[in-house]
Amino acid sequence: MRIKLVAGNWKMNGSRASNQALVETLLPALSQIAGVKCAVCAPYPYLAQLQQALSGSGVAWGAQDVSQFESGAYTGEVSGSMLVEFGCRYTIVGHSERRTLFGDTNQIAAEKYAAALKTGLTPIFCVGETLQEREAGKTEAVVAAQLAAVLDRSRAQSFAQAVIAYEPVWAIGTGKTATPAEAQAVHAFLRSQLADQDATVAEKVQILYGGSVKAANAAELFAMADIDGGLIGGASLDATEFAAICSAAAGAAG
Ligand code: PEP
Repeated sequence: MRIKLVAGNWKMNGSRASNQALVETLLPALSQIAGVKCAVCAPYPYLAQLQQALSGSGVAWGAQDVSQFESGAYTGEVSGSMLVEFGCRYTIVGHSERRTLFGDTNQIAAEKYAAALKTGLTPIFCVGETLQEREAGKTEAVVAAQLAAVLDRSRAQSFAQAVIAYEPVWAIGTGKTATPAEAQAVHAFLRSQLADQDATVAEKVQILYGGSVKAANAAELFAMADIDGGLIGGASLDATEFAAICSAAAGAAG
């Protein structure tokens, strides 16, 4: 039985005041929910604030990206060891917005994944196809290639310390969600790709679904056999909505 994980991706949103208000509503709500892991991934400047607000709460925190480099002349970059200093457990790697807007190729995402692991962070490694790719019947080929880059670089065993997020690009921030059956099919495919190399790790790895998850659709997605929780964008900015999604994951876990 895999424990479900619900991770919020705040993207480039928030302020010190709004973060504090969000956390103050979220923590009491999450304290009523057992049997699910919850995390929030915030912009870098707010990680110290989250470290202070969430330490000891059972809610983990993380970043939304990490440098593939360890240190040095890489202006604007943030290393994994810096994130660890701020208590991060997770970092998102290979989010579709990084891939499409900031040039993160499969190769770069694989390097970032390796860099995160090296510092003890748990990468939340994102894969997903565009609408055009789905309509061309290329979904499996696309996510397999994204995963293969990591498998080539870090091997299947590395997923004992990592999380996968399947996020169809056409579902991110659009209000369109994959149906539970569509998502389940890709999750099962990803798990089978891993199982070809390491069946034990494949059975244990958490595969999250992301793409317009909200309280209203979370339970039916989380009820699917290979959907182990969610990566939540927009809905993670609303404490009540995010807590309801975590509650749906807890309900599905039992
Ligand atoms: C995301 O950014 O990872 C995401 C899934 O966004 P949204 O939930 O807003 O679609």
